[in-house]
Amino acid sequence: MTEIASGPDTAPSPVQPVVIDPRPSLVGMPRAALAEFLRSIGVPDKEVRMRLGQLWHWIYTRGATEFSDMTNVARSLHATLDAAATLRRPEIVREQVSADGTRKWVLRMPAKSQHDRGAEVECVYIPEKDRGTLCVSSQVGCTLNCSFCHTGTQKLVRNLETWEIVGQVMVARDRLGDYPGRTPPEGAFVPNDGGRLVSNIVFMGMGEPLYAYDNVRDAIGVLTDPDGMQLSKRKVTVSTSGVVPEIGRLGTETGAALAISLHATNDPLRDVLVPINKKYPLAELLAACRDYPGASNARRITFEYVMLKGVNDSLAEARALVKLLRGIHAKINLIPFNPWPGTIYECSDWAQIEKFSDVIFDAGYSSPIRTPRGRDILAACGQLKSDTEKMRARARLMLEEQLVLGSD
Ligand code: SAH
Ligand code: SF4
Repeated sequence: MTEIASGPDTAPSPVQPVVIDPRPSLVGMPRAALAEFLRSIGVPDKEVRMRLGQLWHWIYTRGATEFSDMTNVARSLHATLDAAATLRRPEIVREQVSADGTRKWVLRMPAKSQHDRGAEVECVYIPEKDRGTLCVSSQVGCTLNCSFCHTGTQKLVRNLETWEIVGQVMVARDRLGDYPGRTPPEGAFVPNDGGRLVSNIVFMGMGEPLYAYDNVRDAIGVLTDPDGMQLSKRKVTVSTSGVVPEIGRLGTETGAALAISLHATNDPLRDVLVPINKKYPLAELLAACRDYPGASNARRITFEYVMLKGVNDSLAEARALVKLLRGIHAKINLIPFNPWPGTIYECSDWAQIEKFSDVIFDAGYSSPIRTPRGRDILAACGQLKSDTEKMRARARLMLEEQLVLGSD
């Protein structure tokens, strides 16, 4: 594991006033909002489309970080833009590179009020031979408490805003040099087709994306905009624990690929592993999958199944899984459980995972076993949990110390 860049690893001290920049960042602002913003700073109606096109190009195709870089935008407008907005990205608190090339960033979002010391999330880049996948977060923490997931142990702070979701992708592209004419850092994987370093996005970081639905939908709109970042909708995957009422909308409004965190083949066990199952049980979840707009043999729904030793890994369960998914355009992704401090679960033995996979394969499904990536930097699935809580405790301690010192 290498630590490449490190910012301050503590949250702002609770005794220092928080500096809040009221200017919005234009990075990640959806098109309609950006047009509205341009009008609000006095750009004439007839120019709005052209200016929007210029900004869009500089932000997403060129990765501009200063308005003054935008050479075809009038100088006078640079100053107006500077006064009213920024091209800010989330702040990098820490960047780690795993022995296998996986990169993890801890990112801090700007504070919104004196009571908010700046929420933190994590985002992970996984390079493979033919693609570079970025795993992004949709919430700070998660309310859903799946019993095997580390993120679930962190109290929800809030949903991420649209720009904070897009901002994660921009940070990764900045750090990887993923813009025409930029040089990727030494040792970075460059896809063998010479294509984009960040080619795929998965909403599999912290949080339940369908609980932050509007912002996730708008972020997908920005990421897949044909004049901007141009990511293919097929290469954006949203993973949900099963928020049934939002699943259909996700398909019609975004065209994103769907992944379902299934993990059990019967309701009593799924109630324990993925407690949202009590609200939306398996039958309802699978019905929503059968109806998922755009699902086809070429665009299958991924069913994620975490392998927990002695809990859900029997061959009878493998057969039940196959039966359950009959009639759905499905692929199954077996995820070796990634342990975290304090968990009661263990990962299934490798031989058992292979036998389980064979049953699924024999039934005609592809069942890749997800190779754990970035375990040495706690970047693997379900290991994401920001240090925010730890830092809060540290900040509280500092405050107490200062109060004690101050009372001398
Ligand atoms: N909240 C969403 C997306 C984030 S979790 C969801 O639950 O789908 C991304 C994937 O990692 C989910 O399939 C989740 O069940 C899985 N996961 C969580 N904790 C894990 C762990 N400790 N080991 C392996 N996979 C885990
Ligand atoms: Fe939340 Fe997903 Fe973790 Fe469940 S698995 S606690 S839904 S992040």
